[in-house]
Amino acid sequence: MNETQTHQLLNRAEKLCQHRGVRMTPARKEVFALLSKHDGAIGAYDLLEQLKAVVPNAKPPTIYRALDFLQSQGFVHKISSSNSYVLCSHFEQKHPVQMLICRQCGNVQEIHSDGVHEQFLNQANAQGFEVEQQTVEALGICAQCRTQNS
Ligand SMILES: [Zn+2]
Ligand SMILES: [Zn+2]
Repeated sequence: MNETQTHQLLNRAEKLCQHRGVRMTPARKEVFALLSKHDGAIGAYDLLEQLKAVVPNAKPPTIYRALDFLQSQGFVHKISSSNSYVLCSHFEQKHPVQMLICRQCGNVQEIHSDGVHEQFLNQANAQGFEVEQQTVEALGICAQCRTQNS
């Protein structure tokens, strides 16, 4: 994502925060911007290292609190299998998340299949289970890496 796109996305996020009555603090904004500059998913410690370049006294809790907030607002998705984070660009709506994670280059692509989501909910409901949040992570090789591999 380039500067302009980052800026636009950050603007949208800030508007949403205003609307929700929550605060986008400078640290949260920095973490948001760092995530937007990163193509794939990134771990909390790598983010912390990058944040220190802008906020020298940043500590692990700084980054975890910022990530918790961004996650709770839907701006960021957590990838459990690799314990990393990725920015979401359609956070205005609550959506099911399916992640295609390339195990070679680490690129993460987000897809939304309503069909998959519905099936999932149906089966969960049949078990009497109420789903609050659903993320599907698929590990594999992305198109770009497959071209390079062949
Ligand atoms: Zn998303
Ligand atoms: Zn790849």
